[in-house]
Amino acid sequence: MSAQNASFVIDPPVQVSAPVEGQSGRFPVRRILCVGRNYAAHRREMGGDDRDPPFFFSKPADALVEPGRDVAYPQKTANLHHEIELVVALKAGGADLTPEKALALVYGYAVGVDITRRDLQAAARDKGQPWEAAKGFDQSAPSSPIRPWTGAPPQGRIWLSVNGEVRQDAVVADMIWATAEIISEASKLWRLAPGDLIFTGTPEGVGPMVRGDQVKGGVEGVGELAFRIV
Ligand code: MN
Repeated sequence: MSAQNASFVIDPPVQVSAPVEGQSGRFPVRRILCVGRNYAAHRREMGGDDRDPPFFFSKPADALVEPGRDVAYPQKTANLHHEIELVVALKAGGADLTPEKALALVYGYAVGVDITRRDLQAAARDKGQPWEAAKGFDQSAPSSPIRPWTGAPPQGRIWLSVNGEVRQDAVVADMIWATAEIISEASKLWRLAPGDLIFTGTPEGVGPMVRGDQVKGGVEGVGELAFRIV
């Protein structure tokens, strides 16, 4: 029996998806890749070496939070951080792509927050352990609707505020790996596929959130998102 018409012994998981601006149809999400330390000033605030290149980690697709929904403060942390990021949504895939070919994969862009249990991340780093518990937990990826896009990627202001106070304020143009390079680098490590999302890294100014905080963020030309920590 093929997977297409298989019967399942338990109910299969719901397909994760994101709303699309100006469309009734939704964008189906396959997986979420994330870039670490892709802005020089953030790399420095995290104690990184200026010569270290960015790198990848991932979150499960169902970490995505629907626009407008609250985010539950997770278990096992006393230091929950915001990381505002430009998100790339792929409509096509491939492996070993050049940066010149990479932008043809882009369906659109969104604004996301890579929510991080910073205390667990620091503990994992000190012990040489993986980052999943620090990065890939439930509701760790709130995102705006996806804006369909053709042409040159966003380069403008990227910002985040907590309770009206601006904490992160930079420009996407400051990314160490530009959007086309991120897709190219990812395609050297994984065969990319339609439905993949890539969180492209955060600028400086990351910091803690607590229950009751109202978080807002945006990327110029792409959109905005807002959520409350509950
Ligand atoms: Mn991040």
